[in-house]
Amino acid sequence: MRTLIIGNWKMHGSRASAGALAEACAGLLGHVVLCPPFTLLDVVAQALKSSSVALGAQDCHFAAQGAFTGDISAEMLKDAGCAYVILGHSERRGGWGETDAMVGMKATAAIEAGLIPVICIGETLEEKDAGKTLARVESQLRQSLPAAAMAENTVIAYEPVWAIGTGRTPTLEDIKTVHQHILDILVGIWHCSPAHCRVLYGGSVKAANAGEILAVPGVGGALVGGASLDAGEFAGIVSSVKVAHA
Ligand code: PEP
Repeated sequence: MRTLIIGNWKMHGSRASAGALAEACAGLLGHVVLCPPFTLLDVVAQALKSSSVALGAQDCHFAAQGAFTGDISAEMLKDAGCAYVILGHSERRGGWGETDAMVGMKATAAIEAGLIPVICIGETLEEKDAGKTLARVESQLRQSLPAAAMAENTVIAYEPVWAIGTGRTPTLEDIKTVHQHILDILVGIWHCSPAHCRVLYGGSVKAANAGEILAVPGVGGALVGGASLDAGEFAGIVSSVKVAHA
């Protein structure tokens, strides 16, 4: 499986800046996805038209359509050219009270619409300090993963909440331990080889640390926030895939 690098642009950008950033990323070689805000999906889709870089979104509703003011469905994202959708990011779990059950329903909707959900899980600093990382991650994973999820149609992103946007990362040994735990659970649920399960690491990944993080056994790629808004930095992360697997 090729290492997957996903850029989460969060709530940043205008049509002009997003178009320029997407054009700068369009030539990146590798398995790369850009996830701009909803209003910028079309301008980024245009910039990526003849590129191998794929398009993703940052959230969706669990219903296909209906009276849900302000929401966007997975089918709408598919229609807009998306192939991926990030779900259950800690900024949505924390900021909007998204529960594991809601994330699971959204993931089901994504899969039914033909999108690949990128289901985010990860412990808070308090949980880490209390030695509860593996238990927390396991409970989020089991309760967010819908029955429709399979190794072929689902990506998991391990994102320690305390590492997002802070410049702090777990030790490589800790990343290895958590990824191994996630892979063991997925293999138990999906009855597949761990080599077929894709588990990304996310949290303060940048060009300078991507090579060593991507080389950790069990890490199948990276979900990148802040550094994905800088074309040079993001290109550095993408090119470190080759170094990590050389
Ligand atoms: C994220 O928001 O998913 C993320 C990993 O952010 P950052 O890379 O900025 O820590």
